[in-house]
Amino acid sequence: MPPIVLASRNAKKAIEMAELLAPHSVKLVAATDFPEAPDVVESGETFAENAARKASQTALALSRWTLADDSGLMVDALDGAPGVYSARYAGPQADDDANKVRLLAELADVPDERRTARFVCHLAVADPAGEIRLSVEGACAGRILRQQRGGGGFGYDPLFLVPEYDRTFAELSLAVKSRLSHRARAFDRLITNLLRLLDAEASA
Ligand code: IMP
Repeated sequence: MPPIVLASRNAKKAIEMAELLAPHSVKLVAATDFPEAPDVVESGETFAENAARKASQTALALSRWTLADDSGLMVDALDGAPGVYSARYAGPQADDDANKVRLLAELADVPDERRTARFVCHLAVADPAGEIRLSVEGACAGRILRQQRGGGGFGYDPLFLVPEYDRTFAELSLAVKSRLSHRARAFDRLITNLLRLLDAEASA
């Protein structure tokens, strides 16, 4: 089976994708291993558009099968913000801490029962010619806390409570997050068809 390039510069996301792919016979390689990998501008207005841009441009530049993830947090009381702007919510150079500070400030006056949110993940797979061959989305519902809890994960994880577990994503192990996260749910919708495509390529 041909290896698949992961078009992501986010190391924590890459670890989660590797965990999701581990039970399958798919070899993942990082786009950052290739000096010629493009730095794709995420200028789309939807997760689907951004994932497709990343997958397609990277695949074309490297002539390799490529998987891209575009994800973010959608908060109901903020009409879906930060959404596709999740990584740069507090500004173009913002880090996770600055983004969480802004999120807490925006929600300061929002009562607990209206602090519902969901993480969304869109996955796109492009073939070596840059054509999008698979495109799927997964979501995970939760609630935004007033204070951070837990030391694991990344991004908004310490503020995102999963009600069924009464734990934030940052309090759950990678193994548990990898079963119920938005990324895991998108991945569940992807894996059978991804294996089928790569198998067909291997036997072509
Ligand atoms: P992307 O690289 O444009 O997809 O940026 C996604 C951003 O959304 C990240 O920088 C995080 O702020 C946020 N995000 C996406 N997935 C997660 C997650 O699993 N946990 C916490 N934050 C996430």
